Amino acid sequence: MQDLKLLIGGVRTEALSGERFDSFDPYTGEAWATLPRAGVADVDRAVEAAHSAFTTGPWPRLSANQRGALLRKLADLLAAEGSRLAEIETRDNGKLIGETSFQARYLPQIFHYYAGLADKIEGAVMPLDDPGILAYTKWEPVGVVAAITPWNSPLLIAAGKLANALAAGCTVVLKPSEFTSVSTVVMSECFERAGFPPGVVNVLTGFGSEIGDALVGHPKVAKVTFTGSVPTGRRVNEVAARTFKRVALELGGKSPNIVFDDANLDDAVKGAIGGIFAASGQTCVAGSRLLLQDSIHDVFLERMYALAKDLRVGDPRDPATQVGPIATKPQYERVVDYFRIAKEDGATCLLGGELRTQTGQLVPPTIYTNVTNRMRIAREEIFGPVLSVLRFRDEEEAIALANDTLFGLASGVWTASMQRAFKMVDKLQAGTVWVNMYRSASFMMPLTGRKDSGLGSENGQANIRNYLEPKSVWVNHGSTINVPLLRK
Ligand code: NAP
Repeated sequence: MQDLKLLIGGVRTEALSGERFDSFDPYTGEAWATLPRAGVADVDRAVEAAHSAFTTGPWPRLSANQRGALLRKLADLLAAEGSRLAEIETRDNGKLIGETSFQARYLPQIFHYYAGLADKIEGAVMPLDDPGILAYTKWEPVGVVAAITPWNSPLLIAAGKLANALAAGCTVVLKPSEFTSVSTVVMSECFERAGFPPGVVNVLTGFGSEIGDALVGHPKVAKVTFTGSVPTGRRVNEVAARTFKRVALELGGKSPNIVFDDANLDDAVKGAIGGIFAASGQTCVAGSRLLLQDSIHDVFLERMYALAKDLRVGDPRDPATQVGPIATKPQYERVVDYFRIAKEDGATCLLGGELRTQTGQLVPPTIYTNVTNRMRIAREEIFGPVLSVLRFRDEEEAIALANDTLFGLASGVWTASMQRAFKMVDKLQAGTVWVNMYRSASFMMPLTGRKDSGLGSENGQANIRNYLEPKSVWVNHGSTINVPLLRK
């Protein structure tokens, strides 16, 4: 049993209440780690530690170049810990070992990328009319960042937030999901070993329902970066607004994956399967609405069924497994309830739709056809391996169906016509469009949501600006008109 602690001000510590909670392996159902159940007083301790690290101490005295060097050292330490972190994450959230290993190998690259940006935060000199005034901008870190992450890709999402915040010169209080905190706490050991000063990175484990408001609303938190569901994101935004915090929200999706009749069907079938069944559908960008053009609808589904029915569902540690468990018990129950909802909606079940086993939080790949865009299974984010298939006549109808959703995170288009592809790119109301591919991601590409899918963006070079604020500096070094009111 792993026995972990909070990280506050460089000290590994229990919650002040002394309370702890268990983390469960979603495949075996076993409690395998215990964590401190932080309370509001612990939030205060962590934010105070981050705030004093930001205002005093060695952190604000480090040059941008030195911050970059620390991030590079961290990246190298993480590279050495890759397989351990991958195993922990698979144990904690049930993601396939192949995927967690890939993500763990990717973490160092994220930190190297933003390390390279630390010393490229440049201001500008403005060409004012008056030569006696030097007017310039400088960029300053916003301050203490509260970073809140979900359970589906804990390390990857935390790394993106930390790399930006630290390269910019901010300090961080990180709150991972109560269901999957272990890998984040273990990763934080690398920050200590890399030599980040105490208080620069703090980690609070506990329940969002108990400490979320206190963290988001804390007067010494300057920015909140949140990844999670729409209802929690809305709450975070409301609480943060009271004290005018800078906010970034990366929320859910109900993304359309659109296949035209001129597409390479072999590729598109694989793209549709990967789009919804990878990570058991627990990705924000899951292609959970498959839109098929009428003329290929039946043949496409035949081919898709032939491949999807043989997907291996099981132990995420077994490299042969293709679909692992649902990460949390409440989410498992929620996904399974959509089998009932789909029946009530009147959809036709082509594959899955009922539990094959009651153990291991395993949900079979499920495909519903004859779905209309008004059905709940077409409108709500299920966040599981459940696909809704809709059909369309032509481009106009595809665009209308695709955009008829409260979400706007991602979308896919499969076609041989680049003319059509670029038209779709322009018309789709989504932060990401993949053409003849699906579900690729890079820290170099902004991840941003339209409509209810979020606010602001993550990733990409420009994201570091979201952790900085400009300061305008006016210096009179020879102007005679420094008091405009009294100018004659
Ligand atoms: P969630 O329930 O909204 O939780 C996200 C985080 O918020 C967790 O750490 C949670 O802590 C915390 N939280 C709960 N209540 C809070 C409050 N009042 N104030 C502040 N924080 C609070 O989401 P989830 O179920 O973990 O994750 C799945 C969702 O994330 C899906 O909707 C998915 O689409 C979305 N997601 C989006 C992206 C993206 O980039 N757009 C990426 C990945 C996932 P507890 O766990 O302790 O409750």
